[in-house]
Amino acid sequence: MQSTGTLSTPTPISETARLARFFDEEGVTEASVLQAVDLILQRTDVFLDDALAVTRQKAGFESACKAGCGFCCHTMVTVAPPEAFFVAHHIGAHFDDQARNALKEKVTAYARRTQKMDGAQRYMKRESCPFLREDDWYCGLHKARPLVCRAMHSGSLSDCKAAYEARDANMPAPTMAIFFKNTEAYMSAYISTLRPRGLAVYPVELAGALSVIWREEDAFARWLDGADIFADAKLPVPQTERVIEVTRDQAGP
Ligand code: SF4
Ligand code: SF4
Repeated sequence: MQSTGTLSTPTPISETARLARFFDEEGVTEASVLQAVDLILQRTDVFLDDALAVTRQKAGFESACKAGCGFCCHTMVTVAPPEAFFVAHHIGAHFDDQARNALKEKVTAYARRTQKMDGAQRYMKRESCPFLREDDWYCGLHKARPLVCRAMHSGSLSDCKAAYEARDANMPAPTMAIFFKNTEAYMSAYISTLRPRGLAVYPVELAGALSVIWREEDAFARWLDGADIFADAKLPVPQTERVIEVTRDQAGP
């Protein structure tokens, strides 16, 4: 952890060490991977609450984000494989059969349709994330939503709306770089702790990874055995949901 004023910011080194200790103690099993993701999401929520308080106090940053605002949910969601398994588990546990089957169909169709598109192309075509509810623009995953979604904080709703209306993912909205440090630290920690243990870990596109999990028999067990099952959903580098500009970074912590 790096201390920034009163804020302790996760780093790749601090979180790799923490995650390595966890897997040393618990082993790498389906249960421990899901537990690790859950703990990381809990730590992330605490960190982001603190980061929002510190950036408000030190840089005057006010997040414009709220439930039901989904202009940013029209591009690519990048996760590590453990997060994809966590989302699949969440859907299995919290949706009834009918809702689950409908969601699986929607996610799989979206993955097929967008496989060759990058985030900017999805944004231009207004390809909404398959988890964005059509009636109220709430996130259908909410409690299980990935790290990258939690880190998304814009200081200007009008900038987000203008970019959406222009279908231009490169139109910037103000944010703070520190919100994304957490996502970077944990992506790095997943890779650095699980690759040496023989697992294929790299950034993947969420819908594509879920399609693999639902399509492949015993996907979780096979991945834990070292099978490289996510090649179809592999991304060259982590991608944020939408290009955003860090305009207040200098003034921030
Ligand atoms: S990032 Fe922009 S579009 Fe997304 S919730 Fe925040 S204000 Fe709304
Ligand atoms: S998972 Fe939820 S928060 Fe993330 S892009 Fe999809 S609808 Fe938006």
